[in-house]
Order: sequence, then C-alpha cells, then structure tokens
Amino acid sequence: MGTVISAKVVLDDSGLERPVSLEQVGEVSSMGRVEFMYSYGPHLLPPLAPSNDGMWRYQALLPVQNKARYPLAVGATPLLAPANLRAQAGIASLWLKDETRSPTGSNKDRATAIVLEQALQDGVRTVTCASTGNVAVSLAAGAAASGIEAVIFVPACVADAKLQLMLLSGAKVFKVAGGYEAAVELSRQAACTFGWYDRNTGYNPCTLEAKKTVALEIWEQLGRQVPDVVLCPVGDGVTLSGIAKGFRELMWCGATERLPRLIGVQAEGCQPLKRAWEGRDQATSMPTGTIADGIAVAAPINAPMVLRDVRESGGSFIAVSDRAMLQAISVLAAEGGIWVEPAGAAAFAGVACALTTGLLERNERVVVLITGTGLKNPRYLSSRDCNSLYEVEATLEEVERSLVHC
Ligand SMILES: *Cc1c(COP(=O)(O)O)cnc(C)c1O
Repeated sequence: MGTVISAKVVLDDSGLERPVSLEQVGEVSSMGRVEFMYSYGPHLLPPLAPSNDGMWRYQALLPVQNKARYPLAVGATPLLAPANLRAQAGIASLWLKDETRSPTGSNKDRATAIVLEQALQDGVRTVTCASTGNVAVSLAAGAAASGIEAVIFVPACVADAKLQLMLLSGAKVFKVAGGYEAAVELSRQAACTFGWYDRNTGYNPCTLEAKKTVALEIWEQLGRQVPDVVLCPVGDGVTLSGIAKGFRELMWCGATERLPRLIGVQAEGCQPLKRAWEGRDQATSMPTGTIADGIAVAAPINAPMVLRDVRESGGSFIAVSDRAMLQAISVLAAEGGIWVEPAGAAAFAGVACALTTGLLERNERVVVLITGTGLKNPRYLSSRDCNSLYEVEATLEEVERSLVHC
C-alpha cells in the first residue's frame, strides 16, 4: 500500500488550497475536495512486468491496501485502437479507453472497489450512496459480492432499468423527491445519523484515488507515454479530476515531463461547469434536462477542483447536445462495436466539436474516455434506421430477393 503522507483541501473555483492533517480529513470534506499526497518517486511506479491484479497494480499510489477481500475484478480495461473510427475522424492516433468493460459496465466500479475494500477491512456492515444510476448499480453489485448491505438514494427520475439492477442485487433503495442533490444530502445525513459508511463520490477522497488509476493505465497502455489530449465526460467532475491527478502523480514520480490537455465534456442540457469556465455563472445552473443521466449534475460537488484541473492542463470545457450523443451511440455501435449509454458517449460526441473549435489537432494522440455501457439501459440503443431489417419466409429465394433490393 502507498503511504499517504499528507492531505490538502481545494477550497474554491480559483483552486485555492489549504493543507490539512490526516486526522482532519473527515471533518474538512464538507469544505471542499480533499486530495491525498504521497512521497512521490519512481519507487511508486508499477513494475515493468504485467500483472493480473487490475486496478490494484497501482497499490503503491493508493491509500487502501488490497488484502484481496473485495471479490470483483476491477480495472485493466482495454485501450482500443478503433480503425474505422480513426479513419472516419481523420485522427490516426485516436484511442478509446473502454470503461464499459468493468464489472457493472461503468467507471464507477473503481471507486466502489476501493471504498468496499476499506469497508471490508473495517468490518463495516452498511454502506450508502446517492446516485443518478451508475454509482448505485456499482455499489449494489459490489456490496452484494462483499456481503455488505447497500442503502441507496436515487432521484425519482432514475432510469427504471438501472433501478431494477439495484433491487436485483439486493440493495435497499430510497427514491427521493427533489432530484440528485436532495438525494446526496439525505444519504450523507443518513450516513451520519445511522453510522453507515459513506461512498458519496464528491466527499470520500478515496473515489478520486480510485479514478486516477484510469490515467495510470492509459500511460502504461501507450507504452509508458502520456497522450496529448484526453476527452472526458463531466458530471460531478471526479472522473476528470482523478485522471488529472493520475497524470500529475506520474510526473511527480518522474515518469513524464508533460501532461495531457484535458477536455471536459458536458451535456448542453446541464452544463454548469462549462458556463462557470466561461465566467458566466457560479458552478451551478438551472438544467434544461438531458438524456445523459450519468452527467446530469446541476451543482457539481467537485467544481473547484475540476475547474482548476482543466485550467492547469491547458484544456477546456465543451458541451454536446442530446442529438450528438445519440449520434455518437450509433457510430460507436455501428463502426466501433461498442454499446454505450448517452453519458458514456459524450466524450466521443465531443471530438467533432473539439476539432472544429481548434481544441484538438488531427495529428495529436487523443484518448476518449468511454465511461458507461448501454446494456444497463437499452432504451437509447435502438436504431433509428430500420433499412437493414428484413422479414422473410424461410426460403433462400426470399433472402436473395431482399439483398437485391438494397
Ligand atoms: C459518473 C459518470 C460520468 C461522469 O463522472 P463524474 O465523476 O461525475 O464527473 C460519466 N459517464 C458515466 C457513464 C458516468 O456514470
């Protein structure tokens, strides 16, 4: 296990930081995002030889020791080199980091693993979170595998297919009137009052630590090099900040001298961070709504840190429409062989926008984060093109006749 030597808290949108003692971490987490620091050096990097322990390969840079109690296999998701998509986008070095290949099909499984590994070691019986869907599904499945009770708070608008998966995994689920923010508040209060373990993504510093392993994997998968640009969907912002921290730590460990630009992709119908980035609002805004439930966060918990991280990387924020995400889902399915949910397709949908606005050059090495599978909520996986469906009698003549017609 890596030894956390200090912690700091990021206080506001300008990135103002304050060091805190490790004993204070629990108390200050309501003031801002807590970041753990290690004693950086090459000794914290993984060995050259491959191993088979997924995310735990980076244990020297994680705050939780893996005693292999957590039973699901997390991390080591593939970095795909999608030939058709490369040709179509005209980007020769386009890569997809495919987080749909996690136990429950989203990048949330990394944070769940680290939180539950700690919970198992601490003998915790009940763990709670609030979620728009994927965190909850991930926690429900992980807790089921760990023999821990999961109590989950979801907004009333939760996708039914995801809700069914939580219930199927045996979680207790509270559907909260008042949306995601109200669900988070209630879950945190319940954690305090009933003594439950809190997995809430913006508050538990371990979630950031878990999500940074995506960056460590990308670096290894590119032959121990960092990409030029990473596009990442942003809801609360922990996914992007985790990636930023991962690349920063690689630099502090002497593995790279430069950092990738990070482009945060939001949904047009809910883009508080993009608006804050442009100086138009505080990082809260009235959403008009989006089909991308995974990034539909009106008041991002991690706003100060994610704004700082994007700025420091030389990156930017963009927003994509629901229509662009649906189009990206189709392209990823038909040209890439991957089934993705709307939030999971947002970063890919952002590539075109990043190209036209000059945030991205075609000769750069670009990694697009694909965060969530479409299989958990197949509603958006339907094709709008029925031209390739044929209804035939069971004769070869009919098949032949149909082929001639198209
Ligand atoms: C949670 C989630 C995101 C965004 O992650 P944040 O850490 O909240 O910014 C993106 N895509 C999917 C599919 C998600 O579930």
